[in-house]
Amino acid sequence: MKAIAVTPGKPNSAHLVEMRTPEVADIEGGRGVLVKVLRVGVDGTDKEINAAEYGQAPPGFDFLVTGHESFGQVEAVGQNVTELKPGDYAVATVRRPGHSIYDLIGTSDMTTDSVYYERGINLLHGYLAEYYVDDAQFIVKIPQGLRDVAVLLEPMTVVEKGITQAFEIQRRLRVWRPRRAAVMGAGTIGLMATLLLRLRGLEVITFGKIPKPYLNSDLVEALGATYVTSDEVPVAESPKKYAGGFDLIFEATGYSPIAFDSMQALAKNGVLVLSSVTGGDRKVEVPADKINLEFVLGNKVMVGTVNANREYFEAGVRDMSQAEMEYPGWLSRLLTDRVEGLEGYRQLYDKLEEAKGAIKVFCQVADFA
Ligand code: BGC
Ligand code: ZN
Repeated sequence: MKAIAVTPGKPNSAHLVEMRTPEVADIEGGRGVLVKVLRVGVDGTDKEINAAEYGQAPPGFDFLVTGHESFGQVEAVGQNVTELKPGDYAVATVRRPGHSIYDLIGTSDMTTDSVYYERGINLLHGYLAEYYVDDAQFIVKIPQGLRDVAVLLEPMTVVEKGITQAFEIQRRLRVWRPRRAAVMGAGTIGLMATLLLRLRGLEVITFGKIPKPYLNSDLVEALGATYVTSDEVPVAESPKKYAGGFDLIFEATGYSPIAFDSMQALAKNGVLVLSSVTGGDRKVEVPADKINLEFVLGNKVMVGTVNANREYFEAGVRDMSQAEMEYPGWLSRLLTDRVEGLEGYRQLYDKLEEAKGAIKVFCQVADFA
């Protein structure tokens, strides 16, 4: 079968490879699920992998098949698989267990290991191929009605995890009735965070960079949320405009200084979720005494989040279903840039790197039946 791969260590090396088609029997215990890939989305992590900033080949290979945002259709299952059957739509999780106690209890997203095993990212081949096979425990069934948007599930799980963990953490308060949230960033993750917080009934202010109107600000407003730019309302001073600040802030700009501004925008007892993966070494000066004092006196909390385990994929399916009921058609507006076939790999990476106004770039690997 064909697949899109990079040569780790070599920038801009995306190319097509020919490899053995996987089989159900590759997985032990009769638990294999063979999936025909239909669509795969790409994101900033894929950009870094193609720039050779990140990503190692699996042992025994000199290439890494890329793609971690999958959507496909089950083709065959092993004799001990009861939860999926041929014809079902499916999305696979990304990280596979390592060795820490968190990996052993099914929460590899919380691993304390220093090496990550992530399909399409590090040490394991990804989904930009005609087929993949995996253990049923890592494959989540998708309702037929979500077929057209389910390629968005993996990026959504990252948000799902951040928000679920924020609510978990806030159980410390005995009573927590969050009213107002802020989302920093109006890219794919920021838009999804805006959606999930609106579905939970919060008032949401989403901070972007580009003055409205444009597609992303329209999408924010279509959810009944407010779009502002950080030039109009500087984040650190936003509590003056939004009295008292925000009960929950989801940071997804990819620009680390905003994390420190966000700390100053948090309300008393509030929770700040950080999700930007910032590989650089940027330095900024911050009002350290003020931030520290307000965190202490205001009982505030800040948490980092990355990756997602199966439970957040299942929660993501429920939220996507609710989103389709409440804001019909909204999710599909995120699918801005479609590239046909694995042969389109050059266009796929070109669009990822430079398509203006793109929200989600994805490869249509095979047509829907
Ligand atoms: C993926 C996560 C992954 C992270 C770090 C993100 O792009 O969506 O699943 O854990 O990159 O590799
Ligand atoms: Zn990703």
